[in-house]
Amino acid sequence: MFTIYLKEDLIKDSLTCGNCTVSPINQTAESNNIGFQVQSFFSNLFNTNDWPARWNCGTWSDFHGWLYIISDLTIWAAYFAIPILLLVIIKKRKDIPFLNIFWLFIAFILLCGLTHFIDAIIFWWPAYRLSALLRFFTALVSVITVFSLFKLLPIIFKLRTQEELEFEIIERKKAEEETRILMMRQEATNNLMNRKDEFMSIASHELKTPITTLKSSLQLLQRMVSTNKELEPTKMLVDKAARQTKKLTGIINDLLDVTKIQAGKIILNNAEFDLSLLINECAEECEIENKECNVHVRANSDLVVYGDRSRIDQVLCNLITNAIKYSPNSNKVNVIAEKIDNGKVKVSVIDQGIGIPKNHLDDVFDRFFRVENSSQNFAGIGLGLYISSEIIKRHNGEIGVESELGKGSTFWFSI
Ligand code: ADP
Repeated sequence: MFTIYLKEDLIKDSLTCGNCTVSPINQTAESNNIGFQVQSFFSNLFNTNDWPARWNCGTWSDFHGWLYIISDLTIWAAYFAIPILLLVIIKKRKDIPFLNIFWLFIAFILLCGLTHFIDAIIFWWPAYRLSALLRFFTALVSVITVFSLFKLLPIIFKLRTQEELEFEIIERKKAEEETRILMMRQEATNNLMNRKDEFMSIASHELKTPITTLKSSLQLLQRMVSTNKELEPTKMLVDKAARQTKKLTGIINDLLDVTKIQAGKIILNNAEFDLSLLINECAEECEIENKECNVHVRANSDLVVYGDRSRIDQVLCNLITNAIKYSPNSNKVNVIAEKIDNGKVKVSVIDQGIGIPKNHLDDVFDRFFRVENSSQNFAGIGLGLYISSEIIKRHNGEIGVESELGKGSTFWFSI
């Protein structure tokens, strides 16, 4: 028989419940004080004198009691095994994500298991204070786990599923294979380009000597024709041959320039010079070559720049020649030179020619690029603008084009 003491306001007289007697407790002012209660709680943590063992409290059949005890002990055993398994996982998989939440789960499950364990033990050992303390810690860890898990939710929702990861791996492998094939092709193209450059270099060098001889022979012949009346009927033919040889020389020089650019061997002889003078000379030269064309120059007289005069001359001549060449229905080209903000000089060559389609504006400065549809009717090999852009880049300048198909183009550079 056990006696349980309860507050006087709950019961007035002693009651008998199963094997225990419930009696009113005599409350003193000291026992009402919360500080006293806490101190007494901890100092009597393992003291079980205030309660009967659970077997003795109420009426338990053996079946009911053991069902309770065995179930609690089984839950405890399982709750003890789960943290061990989690620990093994953490030890084996060092890359495991959300490690903190794993530790919280371990603590939470372990504490839950212990509350079940103590519930089973209480049938013999009524350590209700210890049980309350354990439940308090379980509650604390549960709340922290809930909070931490809640905070992790957005990250967890963003995690990819196994299917998504497998799909990603397949896609990546595909991309890697494509990159590998592309790199192989790129290497093959580079090899071909190198061999082509090598061929161009050898061919242009080999052609240069006979062309020079041919040119000087033709010049000699031109002189002879102009002084000898008998040879006058051949004048037209000789002049034509001289013009074609000049063209050929231009092409060979372009090829030689390209090989120099590719090898990084283009040399600039920089000095200060008057750009407006050069523009006027160049415009005049182009007008002589293309008699029906008018090149109108608008340039201030104080446009002194620092650079390689002959290379800038080459750029100017190329832009003006192109402007004339690609303007079959117009005989006027405007050249404007002006100082711009950063102290540089900007030269624009404006024509009212065939223009360039928008999608090819960036390509025209590429090696061997020619606008397919339009340039078929005009002679050229697509190197002039490439060489010009390289020359301007070497002068730390900029080159560009604005154009409208069918209306004309403005090629400009600034140095
Ligand atoms: P080429 O004139 O020998 O073909 P370029 O490098 O000078 O080589 O020019 C590249 C291409 O840019 C030309 O084939 C032509 O299609 C286009 N292009 C250049 N200048 C003009 C222009 N003023 N008007 C229209 N198209 C042009």
